[in-house]
Amino acid sequence: MNKKSASNAAGVYAATPHSPFTERRERLFKELQSRKIQGMVVAKPANVFYLTGFHGSAGTLILSGEGPLLLVDPRYTLQAEEQAGGVKVIEARGSLLSAAGDWLGRKRLKRVGFEDTHLSCAEFSVLKGSGARKVVWKNLGGVVESLRAVKEPGEVERVAQAGRLTAEVFEELLQKVKPGVREVELAAEIEFRMRGKGADGVAFETIVASGFRGAYPHARASNKQLKAGELVIFDLGAILSGYAADMTRTVFLGKPPSRVSALYRAVLEAQQAGVNALKAGKAANSVDRAVRKTLATHNLDQFFTHSTGHGVGLEIHESPRLARVEKARLQAGYVVTVEPGIYIEGLGGIRIEDTFAISTDGVRNLTPASKDNWILNS
Ligand code: ZN
Ligand code: ZN
Repeated sequence: MNKKSASNAAGVYAATPHSPFTERRERLFKELQSRKIQGMVVAKPANVFYLTGFHGSAGTLILSGEGPLLLVDPRYTLQAEEQAGGVKVIEARGSLLSAAGDWLGRKRLKRVGFEDTHLSCAEFSVLKGSGARKVVWKNLGGVVESLRAVKEPGEVERVAQAGRLTAEVFEELLQKVKPGVREVELAAEIEFRMRGKGADGVAFETIVASGFRGAYPHARASNKQLKAGELVIFDLGAILSGYAADMTRTVFLGKPPSRVSALYRAVLEAQQAGVNALKAGKAANSVDRAVRKTLATHNLDQFFTHSTGHGVGLEIHESPRLARVEKARLQAGYVVTVEPGIYIEGLGGIRIEDTFAISTDGVRNLTPASKDNWILNS
C-alpha cells in the first residue's frame, strides 16, 4: 500500500461513527499500518466481538483499507447487521475463511495478517488455498489480545458488575454450605443464582472441591458430600454483558486446627503481597515473585504449583499472564487475578483469588466477597 492510499484508508476508519468498536478498529488499523500490513483476517469470536460488537459464534472479519467487512453464514446475517454497526456484512455460503481469502485475492492485497495462535493448521490451509494464493501471510496472533488487555473504563465497569454479582452469589450461598451437602449441589446452586441475577451464564465450570479433593487445583465439583472438619474451595465467576469475573474463596467447616488457620493467613498474606505489587509500569513477574516470596517465608512455596494470575475480560483467561517468566510491564487498564494457592496431599487446598483492575490511581478489587468469614460453624 502506498502512502496516499494508506492515509485514505485511515480515513475510512476515522470517519465511521464514534463507538468503542470503531475506536478499537482504528487502533488495530494503525498497528497494521505501522507494520506495513494491508489487512487482517480475524476469526476468533472474542476478537470479532471486541472489534465489531457481533456476538455470534462464527464470523470472519476482514480489516483493510476498504473498511471493515464481516463475513457470516445465513444463520447470523440479521444478527450481524443489527450488532455490528458501521461494518459491512456479507452473507457467505460455505467456508467463511475461504470466502475471506477469495475477497482478499480479488482486492489484490499483498501482506495480510491472521491469527496464527487461533486458526488450526487445517483452517489456515483453507485460507491459503482460497483465492488468496498470492498473499504473504503475517502472524498476528496476540495483537488483538494485546489491545484487549488494556480495558476501557466501560469494560472495567462490566467486569466489576460481573464481579459484584459473583461475590453476592457466593455470600448468599454460604448459608447452604454444610456437612452432608454434595459439591455438585452447591455448584448447581451457584449457577442457578447467577442466572437469576441476570448473568449471561458462568465464565467457566464452577469448582467446588472439599477435603482431600481440594488438593487438586482444578477439581470439578463431584458427588462427594462435605464433611465437618474439611476445607472447601469455591472457584466461580459469572459472565455479564459479555464480560467475565473470577473469584476463589476457601472456607472451613467447623473449628479449624491452629495449623489450618496459620495456612489460611499465609495464603491471604501472599495474596496481599501480590496486590501490593500490582502497579502500572512494574514487570508482570514481580507480582508472581512477591506472592512466592511471601509463601516461602512460611515454607509453603513448594505447595504453590500454578502461576499467580491472568487477565480477565471477554475471556476468563486472557492477556497478560502473571507468571514467573512474564517480563512484560503492567499497564493501567489491565484487569487481572491474583490467586495464590497451596495444595497439600491429605489436608486439602487453600486458594484465594480476586479480580483486580489496575489504574493510575491504584488497584481496585472487583470481586468484593469477604475473606474473613471463612470459618463456618454450623
Ligand atoms: Zn478462578
Ligand atoms: Zn483464575
